[in-house]
Amino acid sequence: MQIFTTIPGLRTFLADYRHDRSIALVPTMGALHKGHASLIRRAVAEAEITVVSIFVNPLQFAPTEDFSRYPRSLDSDRQLCASLGVAAIFAPSAETLGIGDSEDITAVIPPISLTSGLCGAFRPGHFQGVATIVTRLFNIIAPTIAYFGEKDAQQLAIIRQLVRDLNLAIEIRACATVRETSGLAVSSRNQYLSTAEREKATIIVKSLQLALESFHLGERQREKLLAIVQKNLDRVPEFRCQYLDLVHPQSLQPIEQIETDGLLAIAGLIGQTRLIDNIILRQRRAVIAIDGPAGAGKSTVTRLVAEKLGLTYLDTGAMYRAVTWLVVNSGLDLSAEAAIAELLSLAKIAIIPADSPENVTIVKINGQDVTLEIRSPAITAQVSRIAAQKAVRQQLVTLQREMGMSGGIVVEGRDIGTNVFPEAELKIFLTATPEERARRRLKDLEAQGNGGISLAELTQEIEKRDYLDSNRSLAPLRKAADAIEVNSDHLSIAEVTEKIIALYHQGEENQWRSL
Ligand code: AMP
Repeated sequence: MQIFTTIPGLRTFLADYRHDRSIALVPTMGALHKGHASLIRRAVAEAEITVVSIFVNPLQFAPTEDFSRYPRSLDSDRQLCASLGVAAIFAPSAETLGIGDSEDITAVIPPISLTSGLCGAFRPGHFQGVATIVTRLFNIIAPTIAYFGEKDAQQLAIIRQLVRDLNLAIEIRACATVRETSGLAVSSRNQYLSTAEREKATIIVKSLQLALESFHLGERQREKLLAIVQKNLDRVPEFRCQYLDLVHPQSLQPIEQIETDGLLAIAGLIGQTRLIDNIILRQRRAVIAIDGPAGAGKSTVTRLVAEKLGLTYLDTGAMYRAVTWLVVNSGLDLSAEAAIAELLSLAKIAIIPADSPENVTIVKINGQDVTLEIRSPAITAQVSRIAAQKAVRQQLVTLQREMGMSGGIVVEGRDIGTNVFPEAELKIFLTATPEERARRRLKDLEAQGNGGISLAELTQEIEKRDYLDSNRSLAPLRKAADAIEVNSDHLSIAEVTEKIIALYHQGEENQWRSL
């Protein structure tokens, strides 16, 4: 692991990777704890190169706040990062970042609608300071993906908007709040709490938990949900609440009733320590992401799981076929990537998933039904060339995410759990040893009358393919940090399917993400 304190050092280090590797950024203020570690773990699992920035940003502290006594622990931070597989730490000084007087620098000002409520009302200038520094880090590092904690929900919403408004080619990924066994959200500021205060502070999470239970029982009204939380918070008068609000997670505007999802957020003081916490109240059917090497039985299992659970099978292959059809019919050269990106951006692709296993996914392009045409040998022969194009992949991933937004889908691939649906409720990594996959393949070949290849040769072929799939620059095969590995070596298709279904039911019972 390398440590950089200067911009030229870091930029030169990253230049080697930039053209074909994904670079993850985890921005932090140091004093790393297990909350940060969970962001870093995900970054390391999902991207090739992970940079952790450590900078206690003076711009986001008001003069009355704890800037000078904010915990700093670079030595232990360094050890933690190295042990987690971080490639580089970026720990610049304020001078390096050119931050002197905040009046004298170009500031990034997020929309007032996002900064006026919640923490913004109590910390004037805070989010402008955050946005200014994060924009600089984004420009210096130019990451492919950046990771932020849901614990700072307002910050997350503001950064997402910033990336959209400034057209930054950075994907923002949110990570669930990590908690102590007591439920208290882990925070660098927890160090300020005495043992007694730590105990008192758990009232925040306990109150959120009550609201969550009530939400799962069907309560959707703001007034009722807030009353439940407030009544419970009142039991600990030492907690001096600054705000308790129910807002839309993206717009941060107060909502009267939860339609799709709501953000229930609390902030307040215990002694001199300011604490924040929140939960997302959202009910949707699960997204099941099934990744794994070729030949492990993914597509059969995925279809069966969808059918048995009454969920939608999202046929991503049909989408790549659709784009291939579009390109072939437009007369464009198949290697004209920029023209293809433009063509695809202007096209209307409708994917209508099958409502029964006998049906196929209906595909319409600019209103024309091409369901059958996309299965023709001419299209089949060209799909892989189109699927290898970055812009095509990015646009289709966006489409897939839109289709999966309200949940209830099962989807398979190589990077579904790590890239397409990193927030999927259930992630399966379906695998089998190369030998076993070779045995199955040989059996299939023999059944088709195509024997004549040895088991050893087939095994070698499969190992080579695994290597290529894991090391390709676009959508490499990768196991998500929170995926459950299912090895199908000694299992039938039916048994694998049953296993995944059992995991799904277990998750539903635990409601996926309780606090
Ligand atoms: P900070 O160092 O406090 O600026 O936090 C750096 C990043 O870690 C931010 O994106 C935070 O939201 C995230 N983070 C802090 N605490 C937690 C936690 N308990 N769980 C998950 N993420 C966290």
